[in-house]
Amino acid sequence: MAASTPFVPPPRELLRPLAVPYRLLLGPGPSNVSPRVRAAGGQQILGHMHPEVLQAMDEIKAGIQYAFQTRNRLTLAISGTGHCAMEAALLNLLEGSDTVLVGTNGIWGQRAADIARRLGAKVHELLKPPGEYFTLRDIQEGLAQHKPSLLFITHGESSTGVLQPLEGLGELCHRQGCLLLVDAVASLGGAPILMDQQGIDVLYTGSQKVLSAPPGSSPISFSERAREKMLRRKTKPPSFYLDMGCLASYWGCDGEPRITTPLSQLCIPAQVLSPGIVGLCHCSPPRRAMCLPQGLAGAEPALGPPGFCRYHHTVPISSIFCLREALAMLVELGLESSWKQHRAACTRLYQGLRDLGLELFVKEEAARLPTVTTVRVPEGYNWKDITTFLMDKHNIEISGGLGPTAGKVLRIGLMGHNATQDNVDLLLQALRDALQHCQHSRL
Ligand code: PMP
Repeated sequence: MAASTPFVPPPRELLRPLAVPYRLLLGPGPSNVSPRVRAAGGQQILGHMHPEVLQAMDEIKAGIQYAFQTRNRLTLAISGTGHCAMEAALLNLLEGSDTVLVGTNGIWGQRAADIARRLGAKVHELLKPPGEYFTLRDIQEGLAQHKPSLLFITHGESSTGVLQPLEGLGELCHRQGCLLLVDAVASLGGAPILMDQQGIDVLYTGSQKVLSAPPGSSPISFSERAREKMLRRKTKPPSFYLDMGCLASYWGCDGEPRITTPLSQLCIPAQVLSPGIVGLCHCSPPRRAMCLPQGLAGAEPALGPPGFCRYHHTVPISSIFCLREALAMLVELGLESSWKQHRAACTRLYQGLRDLGLELFVKEEAARLPTVTTVRVPEGYNWKDITTFLMDKHNIEISGGLGPTAGKVLRIGLMGHNATQDNVDLLLQALRDALQHCQHSRL
């Protein structure tokens, strides 16, 4: 056989049409995407440095500032899911043997601690049983004992259904010279969070929950305090893709004017670049050398139009359009209406679950996450039978527990586009049906 003859045959499965059935996604995420956001994702692709895309990126920054209630300059969307934003926050803020205190009351603290350990940080976990939140006193004691430079905490613990109170945390951290990092992937837009007023230094969320956009882009924002810590780094962040200096430049967060000159003029002349390098990061002066590709540190790039290129990576254009529309929808609805809508939906759900004889996992009502409700698996039932029945007979997804709640709870998500009273009623009817028909699976 000649070496140029392909020997792997075309896979038959790719010769069939793609099959995507309709399902009502009432698990802890992703949630269904609204027709408007889906239409945005179906738009034709433009170049990632075209003025219309740069404009959509600027509009996303403004939308995130509104959704987070912040005036932080360093506000953008990471091209990646919630884990990617978690990783970006930790790897930019931690350096060497920095100490981080992680609030672990579910799987997300465990994940953050894992990432921080991989980065070589000294990690201390503040532990709470699943279903509980941290009090100011818990945090105060942890800060006093471990003297961390960073505290990680999860606002919406989607593995347990707990809403972490944030009031006073920022002040407490800052008094101890510590930064506050908050995961709001499952809560942003569904429960109040006010980044600047609550003294949060780094906040991130995901696109696929309350924003009801496809997964894959994650809004994130850094306070001046956090930015200063990053500027003081002695070493480069250990990831090029997630280097916040480079991303800040690409997203135009550095106060420099965005360039929308003709595309032919947007790239640095080839002779300035090492082979294989197609762009340069442009960071504020103290970081500039750190962001230059190896071998170019010290060489002054031709900055500013028309020779300078801010290209860092190709933003996922369709995700950018979707996120832009999802944020526009949140802006049109208004944050307070969105919080109210989520509160109303979950309150109706709690009552319906109680009427079915089911028990909520989080005892204290104020500590329940409005977006993700955890329900104890009823005595004698197998959780998997219930979720499978709902999927097979009603096209509804809910999910079982995760991490410390695996096998113990069912998790019901009512987020963004899906947080409606009609969906609550549909689900309750389907659950009633499941409880009747899954009786044969009594253990
Ligand atoms: N944090 C929380 C609180 C989450 O609920 C999730 C997603 N379930 C993540 C982080 C991770 O997000 P992703 O799956 O988009 O990576």
